[in-house]
Amino acid sequence: MRVLLHICCGPCAIMPVRRLLDEGCEVEGFFYNPNIHPLAEYLRRREGAAAVAEKYGLRMHWALEDGDYDTAAWLGRITASGAGLNARERCPLCWSGRLGRTFALAEREGFDAVTSSLLYSRRQRHDEIAALGRALAQKHAGAGGPLFLYRDFRPDWQRGIEVSKEWGVYRQQYCGCIFSENDRYARALQKADTALCTAGRA
Ligand code: SF4
Repeated sequence: MRVLLHICCGPCAIMPVRRLLDEGCEVEGFFYNPNIHPLAEYLRRREGAAAVAEKYGLRMHWALEDGDYDTAAWLGRITASGAGLNARERCPLCWSGRLGRTFALAEREGFDAVTSSLLYSRRQRHDEIAALGRALAQKHAGAGGPLFLYRDFRPDWQRGIEVSKEWGVYRQQYCGCIFSENDRYARALQKADTALCTAGRA
């Protein structure tokens, strides 16, 4: 089976690629993640994905067309919906943009199935991502499009961390978007604010 694996970053791809290859799939990767901010972080994660692909000899698709990385467009899409800071509403829009584009590429290039390294993460809402994948497959089914290859890659979480460290693959500190970056460092801001207030009173 020829499978297009949506890759969100290098560390998350390590075990999914390994498992799909072990299952005998013919795997290619697709890096399409306009949700990663800022650009320097995007480049580091893309380099990480390239490093993992090189280790496996994996053929990659990189989403290099104009507009494929457009922070203003991505933020506009998310904030126009009013989702913004609310991850419950924001993340499904983010996943659907990335997986939708993966299905479109897979259909165009004649892949049998699509899956995603998002299904490796213990921090993402796994069941919602799986439901979205199934819905997208249904949408493409009429045109003889790709299946959604559901896999629960999470049991390999710890091994994936170990291998990413052995291989020296860049490991990010937050999910991707500027909102998640804010969430990640919110406590640091709070602590710094408190310290400034205390110093101001002294
Ligand atoms: S938190 Fe992660 S999944 Fe949710 S919108 Fe931001 S980048 Fe996308």
